[in-house]
Amino acid sequence: MKLEHIEHLGIAVSNLDEAIKFYEEKLGLKCYAIEEVAEQKVRTAFFKVGQTKIELLESTAPDGPIAKFIEKKGQGIQHVAFAVKGLAEQLKAAEEDGVMLIDKAPRKGAEGLNIAFLHPKSTFGVLTELCENPAAEGSCCCKCDCE
Ligand code: ZN
Repeated sequence: MKLEHIEHLGIAVSNLDEAIKFYEEKLGLKCYAIEEVAEQKVRTAFFKVGQTKIELLESTAPDGPIAKFIEKKGQGIQHVAFAVKGLAEQLKAAEEDGVMLIDKAPRKGAEGLNIAFLHPKSTFGVLTELCENPAAEGSCCCKCDCE
């Protein structure tokens, strides 16, 4: 597997608005997008630090994965996401290497990225996401101001 950089850290919070306020007022970051991913029962807010993003995650339903995470472990880092190229091939290689996958094939995540998760049983307890930006290099598709 070849990882390019840490694309984002996913942080589970119980109150998105309060968390955004903290990240903006105390940490001095700027929230550049809020997106609801209905399928994941989650509302997300994005910040940028260098080339890495912070993705705050708030559950929109008591039975959603983020609600369950907070119930079990409390608020905090929920997943780490690495940018990769050739996600489908990397997944296949990982599986052949004996890594347990949650997603055997890429699916659509927030910001139009193709994503897939590795199983925390294989990654020492850290839910690990791989993401690929389907837009060609250099042409930024997202709503950020990185251009
Ligand atoms: Zn993520």
